[in-house]
Amino acid sequence: MAPAVITETAIDDIKIHIKSGPTTAPEALAAVKARFVERNPTSLKLHEEAVRSLPGGNTRSLLHTAPFPIFMKSGHGHTVLSEDGHTYTDFVGELTAGLYGHTQPLIQETLVDAIQNIGMNLGATTKLESRHAALLCKRFNLDLIRFTNSGTEANLHALQVARKFTGKRKVVAFTGGYHGGCFSFPEDKPTENSVDLHEWIIAEYNDLADTKRKIEESGDVAAVIVEGMQGAGPAIVGTSAFLKQVQESARKVGAVFILDEVMTSRLAPGGLQELENLQPDLTSLGKYLGGGITFGAFGGRADIMSIYDPRDGMALAHSGTFNNNVLGMAAGYIGLSQIYTPEAAVSANAQGDAFRKALQDLTPGNKMAITGRGTIIGIHFLKDGKKELASYRERQDDHELKELFWFEMMEENIWLHKRGYIPLILGTPQEELDRFVECVKEFLARHESLVKL
Ligand code: PMP
Repeated sequence: MAPAVITETAIDDIKIHIKSGPTTAPEALAAVKARFVERNPTSLKLHEEAVRSLPGGNTRSLLHTAPFPIFMKSGHGHTVLSEDGHTYTDFVGELTAGLYGHTQPLIQETLVDAIQNIGMNLGATTKLESRHAALLCKRFNLDLIRFTNSGTEANLHALQVARKFTGKRKVVAFTGGYHGGCFSFPEDKPTENSVDLHEWIIAEYNDLADTKRKIEESGDVAAVIVEGMQGAGPAIVGTSAFLKQVQESARKVGAVFILDEVMTSRLAPGGLQELENLQPDLTSLGKYLGGGITFGAFGGRADIMSIYDPRDGMALAHSGTFNNNVLGMAAGYIGLSQIYTPEAAVSANAQGDAFRKALQDLTPGNKMAITGRGTIIGIHFLKDGKKELASYRERQDDHELKELFWFEMMEENIWLHKRGYIPLILGTPQEELDRFVECVKEFLARHESLVKL
């Protein structure tokens, strides 16, 4: 739906009003939305065209924003350029898949070389896939691995093999969990579009007693699937004790413990499981591990993964045209072996920790809360002033402030996901991180009366 027409005089009035002192949140929001419309006429025009062929002009629900989305034209390094001609520092980082940035030279070279000298897809087994598989197994402590097209598919197959392995059906997941487009648990039940609607048992994230009870007492539990830090939170960290409890209870009842590291594998050389000393039975992977090309993978214990061994006539099938696509296999391998080396992972996450700390230093006495680990940061505006969140359900968002923040940061040429989820891009200059902190500080000062507790 096109926004209401806003006259220039009305916009000027609002601007004067803002300068003249504290405003209410609805006033500030109305003003920033008016400026947004004024600043992005090309995006509005493109949106009006897009709605004619895409429902709501959208093919990825997570990217929907009102009154319309910003259309991006191109990206370079850690920046993106909009169709309206604004260059932003990219703090969306393609929701962790964009770790290497938009034009990493080695990734570009690898892709061009693959296109020119290998060919798009060969409809056959290639050395590229075994090379990438071997690297991933070594790095993430897996016996065997299989590739998929996405993280969603990786989890889908991980769950199916867990069912085959255990002969059981039910799966325990957690409130606030997200494991893909058809596995989403914002509350205590799966969303309507989730698969296997009747086979989920939802335990409260970070609640040890509930976790123990649901896994150990439900019966017929084939698998437990959990994120070590919840992306949708954004960035709600699982405690060590909680993650250990998940592992212990799963072991106790013979359920397959699936650690979803689609987002968190970048937090340490060997992923979050290395940081937390976890030994999941299966791990799902995705995002940047395809070098920026569509990618997913799942792997782990040999006795479970061998269920796919096609040399056994009884094997579980797992097909997918693009599972071993040339571009993802080539770029994923080069990225992990030459760019995101163990040393690079350690240093990027240290930079992320320092960035998070600088943001946290701005939050005493106001509604802002900063969560996360390493290169993944979550920004919250919480009505009750909480600074830490154990679970999604504890989150009492100040929706207006959160929205205002998103709109106003865009005016600083900072590209953020509206959810407040920040996965850092490698090579983002420290000055840009410092500038971000400065912009947040100014936002908090500008809206002191709205943000204070
Ligand atoms: N698991 C987690 C934890 C994720 O964050 C995501 C994607 N955001 C997925 C699975 C699904 O991955 P994909 O979008 O590649 O299907």
